[in-house]
Amino acid sequence: MIDALIEKCPLAGPMSQYEEVYWGNPNYGSDAKLPFSLQDIDDAEERLKRFAPYIKKVFPQTDPAGGLIESPLREAVSMREAMGIEGRLFLKCDSHLPISGSIKARGGIYEILKFAETVAMEHGMLRVEEDYSKLAEAPFREFFSKYRVSVGSTGNLGLSIGIISAMFGFQVTVHMSADARQWKKDLLREKGVTVIEYPSDYQKAVAEGRKEAERDPNCHFVDDENSKDLFLGYAVAGKRLKKQLDECGITADETHPIFVYLPCGVGGAPGGVTFGLKTVIGPHIHCIFAEPTHAPCMTLGMATGLYNQVCVQDIGLDAKTEADGLAVGRASGLAGTVMETLLQGCYTVEDHKLYSYLRLLADTEHLYVEPSACAGFEGTRHVVCSDECQPVHIVWMTGGAMVPKEEMEAFYHHA
Ligand SMILES: *Cc1c(COP(=O)(O)O)cnc(C)c1O
Repeated sequence: MIDALIEKCPLAGPMSQYEEVYWGNPNYGSDAKLPFSLQDIDDAEERLKRFAPYIKKVFPQTDPAGGLIESPLREAVSMREAMGIEGRLFLKCDSHLPISGSIKARGGIYEILKFAETVAMEHGMLRVEEDYSKLAEAPFREFFSKYRVSVGSTGNLGLSIGIISAMFGFQVTVHMSADARQWKKDLLREKGVTVIEYPSDYQKAVAEGRKEAERDPNCHFVDDENSKDLFLGYAVAGKRLKKQLDECGITADETHPIFVYLPCGVGGAPGGVTFGLKTVIGPHIHCIFAEPTHAPCMTLGMATGLYNQVCVQDIGLDAKTEADGLAVGRASGLAGTVMETLLQGCYTVEDHKLYSYLRLLADTEHLYVEPSACAGFEGTRHVVCSDECQPVHIVWMTGGAMVPKEEMEAFYHHA
């Protein structure tokens, strides 16, 4: 199997040795028929607006943003200087998204909002023109308690789904892989979420979540590998970032290209964001995915053209990494196929570099994020621009604000 894969795709050779690689997409920019359109993003954005009064009411920390769950885009001049990057460097701080402190607060929360809206409407309890803050009232919580939500997760998705589902009153089970951090399990249990742990990997946790939902017609399974709702929830970031770029006076064109670096696990979050950015901003914004050398499922799937029909274990890799959320052996088929023409490339990075970037970021910008969120910095090394070109680099910080202080200190001092 390994030899046949390497013959078909030479890049799999160094990948099988845990070496860092860069894969440039030969189909980037070709015409393609996509399963989603701008209309789908608009629809998701409208739904988030309808829910804003509810979110504002139950999560007061979203009050300043009027109940929208959004993160700042901030320029990082000191980090840029320290890294010696040409052009401008910005950080998209999803690490500090309200409610669950990671990029999963986009797709994960969106999917549960849509589920709550669907069941409430099916029972004649809600109309689109109403004030959705009424969903926080007792009769709704009682109604929602008849429904169940289930999800398999390495950590951050479970955190988002668990927190928002428990807030509605749904019965929620998070199937977690053994490598998930203890504090995430503790926090979920505190909120009344049932957490089931599996000694084996993430794939097993997802399979159990799916099985649980199949047995119960009132149970909604959040399918990290195939969910269109998750994907479109992430895609709304395209419209939100466009607005932030406009506010900074930044427009993407031939001589001012924008490069966006996104840490990738199963591919849904970076895939959805990329779909949103390409749809809303166009040909001069270029997205690149970052993966750990131990778990490069998307790089392998894209480079071989096999998408979710191949996994990193097929080339002898162990899928073990300290980057939470990125320890995934098999990519999402949905994300892979949508990325076929939209993604500029993928690269892999060694775990120890994530800690160096984490430290540098803390020292230069006083910003603390989790190791996986630092995978994007390495991408700036892979982009070559001509002399007349003034690039803007955006590193997507995918998580970190909820990491307990002691753990963050351990990350910082990690040898
Ligand atoms: C989930 C996650 C990602 C990647 O998202 P996928 O949809 O799994 O590709 C990246 N960084 C962090 C911190 C995450 O939690």
